[in-house]
Amino acid sequence: MQTSHSESDLLRALRQHFGYDSFRPLQLEIIEHALSGRDAVVLMPTGGGKSICYQLPAVVRTGLTVVISPLIALMKDQVDALRANGIAASCLNSSLTLDEFDAVTQGLFNGETDLLYLSPERLFSGGCLSYLATLDIGMFAVDEAHCVSSWGHHFRPEYQRLRAIKEHFPETPVMALTATADKAVRADIGESLGLVDPALFVASFDRPNLSMTVLPGRKKWEQFLPLVRRYPGHSGIIYCQSRNGTEHLAEKLQAHGFDAQAYHAGLDTETRNRVQSAFIQGECPIVCATIAFGMGIDKADVRFVVHWNMPGNLESYYQEIGRAGRDGLPAETVLFYSYRDVQTQLGFLEDIVDDGYREIQQAKIKRIQDFAEAQVCRRKILLGYFSEIQDETCGNCDVCRNPPSYMDGTTVAQMALSAVIRTKERCSITTLIDLLKGSRTPGVTEQGFDKIKTFGVGRQHTNFAWQLFIQQLIQLGLLELDYKDNHTLKLTPLSRPVLFDGKRVDLVSPDTVRLRQEEQRKVKVSAQRTIAGPPNEPLYECLRTLRTKIAAEIGKPAYVVFSNASLEDMAARQPTNREEFLTVHGVGEHKALLYADVFLKAIADFSKNPATTE
Ligand code: ADP
Ligand code: ZN
Repeated sequence: MQTSHSESDLLRALRQHFGYDSFRPLQLEIIEHALSGRDAVVLMPTGGGKSICYQLPAVVRTGLTVVISPLIALMKDQVDALRANGIAASCLNSSLTLDEFDAVTQGLFNGETDLLYLSPERLFSGGCLSYLATLDIGMFAVDEAHCVSSWGHHFRPEYQRLRAIKEHFPETPVMALTATADKAVRADIGESLGLVDPALFVASFDRPNLSMTVLPGRKKWEQFLPLVRRYPGHSGIIYCQSRNGTEHLAEKLQAHGFDAQAYHAGLDTETRNRVQSAFIQGECPIVCATIAFGMGIDKADVRFVVHWNMPGNLESYYQEIGRAGRDGLPAETVLFYSYRDVQTQLGFLEDIVDDGYREIQQAKIKRIQDFAEAQVCRRKILLGYFSEIQDETCGNCDVCRNPPSYMDGTTVAQMALSAVIRTKERCSITTLIDLLKGSRTPGVTEQGFDKIKTFGVGRQHTNFAWQLFIQQLIQLGLLELDYKDNHTLKLTPLSRPVLFDGKRVDLVSPDTVRLRQEEQRKVKVSAQRTIAGPPNEPLYECLRTLRTKIAAEIGKPAYVVFSNASLEDMAARQPTNREEFLTVHGVGEHKALLYADVFLKAIADFSKNPATTE
């Protein structure tokens, strides 16, 4: 079904239903594409605003949009948030009562529902697919689509069956969305879902407001305490490896007077829900959690994320730190790195029977380890890992803030890059080093690499030095490591100017690295700039109190009424009438209808007599 909507129509709809003034990068393009009836794969970082990409088309077009989403809790939050905006959304899952179920199916039957959320398991049970075929469906959206890929880190077998959607509904457009995808996963998503010539939308994964720091994993508490003290009353998440670790840390924080709770999969559902909602409402700002925590938590004002232990791959790391600073304000992230965590992560892989899969996961551990030990801008490494090559350094990571001294590494880089070209991009890191050092190892001779011109040109550098150089070339985006092709090295668009135009490459010398590694063992957290204290303007507090009251009355989490960002904007603008109220961030027509009167009254009372209003 083709519908035509102009840009201004869509902008008006965004304002009317969601209360936002402009689209985030790529949202408009994706929405227009979806409305044109074609398939798409959408990659956006956590917090990038994926949901609007299918929610807005769902609202403006006729027909139902079916959203496949992996977690029931996540669905419920999304449906609540949509309904709070006056959008007809529902979900079908096992937690519904019979009455609720009837209400949902009645809405579907009457064609009144814009969005229906389903888990993949639900889709494949009880004739659900044939039931859907009786409805007028405008689009399918598959959220967390990286779960289809065995290359990914969240593989879910039932996601692979989702190809059935395209088989049953060949004419209906499908949008697959994910926050996490390296190149291999990216290709897998379209294929596994059987999408037809899907457009690929890749939003920038850069989150410049997140600072990044890696600290040695020793005396963590001493290093951590000053950090948590910088954020009184603010929210933060500390990811720990073990359940015990979360509990131990939460107790220690409580003993030091912080509001902290543990969260892990071993707690009963009720406790988990309680901790999660206390966190979302800001009642318990600090959560010490295992990775079980966070998927789908839409809390914009998390000010810090700490990894007490090193995660097993950069995808998880980036997704987890991505939960900080979704509101775009400065947020701090810290990774404690120790070799012990590397061993632990490798240990987790021992039970994996599939050799190929295990090797990929091992390689992923190696990449995050390299990241943690890196001497170049961490953001560059991270973005490069997601195939987003950046020429500039970021200025907001520990390496940029405290840069090592560099040597002119142009010749070294040229040697390596030229060897990679001459092997026709068929050598691994080890083979490349052997080749450059002129060692006739089997890896070198079997492929005839001892006959090429660059054989032995790098003799003067040690093995350790070459390891470091090549690692840095990868991290700088001058070389790429291809998992899908036996971990061989490939050139990138940045390689050419270095090889052919002599573009200068700065590398950290092996001596400097040795010194820094020694120093790192002694480092303390450097004093960092403190961000503003909790927003405590009296009007903001008064609006928060009102929000808590309303939330309690309707029995929903506070953010369903208004986000903190909305309240901050409201406190800043102090609207005096409905029209002005509608210009507040996150206030669409439905919320204005529900809440304009009470909030306007609170603001008016406050401005008459700020001292006596609570
Ligand atoms: P993702 O699913 O990509 O992690 P969400 O869709 O949950 O991200 O969006 C993250 C936050 O950004 C949400 O609070 C959402 O309401 C907000 N948001 C999305 N699009 C816009 C926009 N165009 N303007 C302002 N805020 C937006
Ligand atoms: Zn940097």
